[in-house]
Amino acid sequence: MIVINAKNISKTYNPDKVPVHALNHVDLEIKKGEFTAIVGPSGSGKSTLLNIIGGLDVPTEGTIELGGEDISKFSDNELIDFRLQHIGFVFQAYNLIPVLTAEENVEFIMLLQKQTEKDRKARTVELLTKVGLKDQMNRRPSELSGGQQQRVAVARALASRPEFILADEPTANLDSHSTATLLDMMANMNEKEGATFVFSTHDQRVIDKARRVITLEDGKIVSDEVR
Ligand code: ADP
Ligand code: MG
Repeated sequence: MIVINAKNISKTYNPDKVPVHALNHVDLEIKKGEFTAIVGPSGSGKSTLLNIIGGLDVPTEGTIELGGEDISKFSDNELIDFRLQHIGFVFQAYNLIPVLTAEENVEFIMLLQKQTEKDRKARTVELLTKVGLKDQMNRRPSELSGGQQQRVAVARALASRPEFILADEPTANLDSHSTATLLDMMANMNEKEGATFVFSTHDQRVIDKARRVITLEDGKIVSDEVR
């Protein structure tokens, strides 16, 4: 079953000044439960593609269907609601809420989804323990290192058990131990709960775990390898 269907996606930044063609007619179909890495040189369009798939940015041309819904047709409010219910993000630009503690950041989406307090607390402690931050859960982001913040962001993305998990270089700030932990958590969510993962990465350890590797160059898909 195809759950992400990007059709003829192009993205041009600064169309009226010096245009940058970040994506050029990209077609991409991703099936439920795939564990897909997007690789390619810096500036090849990985972040742009992930932002568009996740409804954080709009394409200049083309359509995006997620779970059969054409998100390009959604109003702003419908899109916010859809993201909240269905997508977990680990994105630089979608960072932790500075005034909330690690615990509150992880719990936040489950609160908006009106999950019971018992479920929220249990899931939050479970995930923060897995990422090795149980003892730091009362700290705010400013009291955590970059790598620790990244691990909180991963816990937050997985917390509400979203169907789609999109991650933009999720291991970029992590040491090898945290990278291994994070990969285990991602693989576990993928295998046990059937979550569909799409992540960009430069990290060979992460690429090695992917079951599909899509390479972008100059805003085009130049190879698509299923292992
Ligand atoms: P990657 O994530 O693979 O490094 P990006 O998607 O960030 O690539 O960028 C693709 C191209 O689009 C690059 O040339 C980049 O400079 C440009 N770009 C990205 N975001 C913007 C933006 N907000 N405004 C203008 N140009 C952008
Ligand atoms: Mg990028």
